[in-house]
Amino acid sequence: MCTVRCHIQVEVENGEVVWVQGNPHTGMDGALCPRGAAGIALLKDDERPHGPMIRDGRRGEGKWRRVTWEEAFGHVAAKLTEITAKYGSRSILFSDRGGPFPDLHQAFVRALGTPNYCNHDVSCARNTNHAALSVFGFGRKGLSYDLKNARHVVLQTRNIMEAVNVKEVKDLTAAMDKGCRLSVIDVRSTITATKAHDFFLVKPGTDYAFNLAILHTLIKDQLHDREYVDKYVKDFDRLALFVEPYTPAWAEQETGVPARRMVELAGRLAEAAPAIIWHPGWNTARYRDSFYVSRTAYLINVILGAVGAKGGLPLVAKAGDVGHPGLKSLTGLFPKPEEKRADGVGWKYPHLDAGPGVLNQALEAARTGDPYPVKAYLCYRHDPLTALPDPDAVRQALDEMDLLVSMTFSWSDTAWYSDVILPLSTYFERESIIAQKDGLKPYFFVRQRAVEPRYDTKAEWEIFTGILNQLGVKGWDFQSIEDIWRYQLQDTGFTAEALSETGTIPLTDKPQYKDRASLKFKTLSGQVEVINDKWEKAGHPSLKPYEPPQAPPAGTFRLIFGRCALHTQGHTVNNPLLNEAMPENELWIHTRAAAGLGLADGDLVRVSNNSHSSEAHSSEPHSAEIRAKVTDIIHPECVFMIHGFGHKLPVETRAYGKGAADHELMTEGLTKWSPAGGGLNMQENFVRVSKV
Ligand code: SF4
Repeated sequence: MCTVRCHIQVEVENGEVVWVQGNPHTGMDGALCPRGAAGIALLKDDERPHGPMIRDGRRGEGKWRRVTWEEAFGHVAAKLTEITAKYGSRSILFSDRGGPFPDLHQAFVRALGTPNYCNHDVSCARNTNHAALSVFGFGRKGLSYDLKNARHVVLQTRNIMEAVNVKEVKDLTAAMDKGCRLSVIDVRSTITATKAHDFFLVKPGTDYAFNLAILHTLIKDQLHDREYVDKYVKDFDRLALFVEPYTPAWAEQETGVPARRMVELAGRLAEAAPAIIWHPGWNTARYRDSFYVSRTAYLINVILGAVGAKGGLPLVAKAGDVGHPGLKSLTGLFPKPEEKRADGVGWKYPHLDAGPGVLNQALEAARTGDPYPVKAYLCYRHDPLTALPDPDAVRQALDEMDLLVSMTFSWSDTAWYSDVILPLSTYFERESIIAQKDGLKPYFFVRQRAVEPRYDTKAEWEIFTGILNQLGVKGWDFQSIEDIWRYQLQDTGFTAEALSETGTIPLTDKPQYKDRASLKFKTLSGQVEVINDKWEKAGHPSLKPYEPPQAPPAGTFRLIFGRCALHTQGHTVNNPLLNEAMPENELWIHTRAAAGLGLADGDLVRVSNNSHSSEAHSSEPHSAEIRAKVTDIIHPECVFMIHGFGHKLPVETRAYGKGAADHELMTEGLTKWSPAGGGLNMQENFVRVSKV
């Protein structure tokens, strides 16, 4: 039900799914989050697309013609051929929501001959990934979080008990049962904060100040791991010099957290080190300096010796590290396109990682035709009109496309605006390719088809194969998923049968902690780099002086968004069970701020932003009505709502008109991003609140 893709076990009787639980063979012990438990309601939901459709009316008008799959594939292939003939294959853009199966998606994109593969990460973890790249030379997935063995975990921009990854929550709670301390830094008391030993309520946008003060204290009080630092850290002296003025007393003025508490936290971390994890963040598409928040989080882990340590952030092991060849790459079937990317990654932004690119910049290329026209957009299980801020701006980019296709299992704003809908089977009804999971115990895993599709829907490999066959692409010769599995496993010595019983093939039974005395980093120097030349050359200082956040203009609040354990992005709010459990979101507002506006808990309020007009685009003012949750446990400068509500599609009768959509209130949100870290700054927006 979400991108985590927890391992599940499904019980089927007479072709019907009757039970779903966490896969007991892979450490899930039956556990699921509420969304996972509501999966059967998705399967049975008749308010999802039932078959392939081609748009009949204007875009967004909701007039559709049901067609056969052959006609749908033929239509998409004909349009792609026409667009490619006119603008070249580079004019095709594809995006997805990431996850463990990118090899199939990237193979499909390469087969189309375009360099423009993107995922959603510009609105999620791009800043964290680039922070890891700039410090270690490998991305954020090059490190594990050994939560199970940790002695102190700090969560900052990571609301682990609501933006749930079930295995991570289980590991953390198991560690806490054994005495692990939990510290949470946030602008409101989340469910995670309620479980913490220490909660630090910070002023919005000041996390960087908090982290600089912790680095200052660790270094000044010599609490860091000097042996580790001498061995692995390049330019530590420059870090020490840089953080010298950032004292806890100074940070108290910025963050609102008493200096004494920051000093205490630094001391406690040093006591527990190296079995500590200062989480570098998951969705860090937040503030203009979030890249630097992640970088300093990594550096705190580094100087406490936690990187590579048991109970800290061990380097991941891959198949090769435990003596197994990895899966054969599907992407490798096709040559890498030589064209430069439309989003500028690799040339205009040489320091950014080409993998999933930066989608806001690809859409900007579509809008302007610079560096070249982008005319076809294939969205796989991704709803950029909801996932990205400022839908007016996104729509202006989509309007430049001659073809917009949604491959989706649920209705979404993007699907509704598309030219063609290719409905995806739910995860119970479709297989995946085999995926390889690196980590302390690397393994292969696969999703199997539990039941046949209830409606006229298809698996992603079937949809991609259908389009490629219609295009006559050479080199994609697979007729079945078994053919694909056989190809992937070719060099591994395993067969697909080995996966059939438990869904996984473990490649080792022992956690692989690399020798902490001989760690290897992928930077040019081979060391942890405080100063990264690639970023410096691109004009982004590695040690950026702190700048205070913008204060909310008079009469406004900073808009903060987040997740809850009952919903995933926007695509579960119409799920019958989850909608019943939580039909709408609320606007958290501090008691004092509410009193100033004459608001009581439960009042209906209007939240509004401003219109704007710029060279890039213009948009109308947006406002939404939502119930107020008046509370003491949020910083008074901000208001908060859970993302993904405020649906307005007539085909989603349960979600229709319930709650407010945060992304519509993010004025100029598509242009507010961090060229240093690649993430959007989605919490740099201010709204007005009034009683309805
Ligand atoms: S976190 Fe919940 S919704 Fe996501 S994959 Fe796991 S069980 Fe499913």
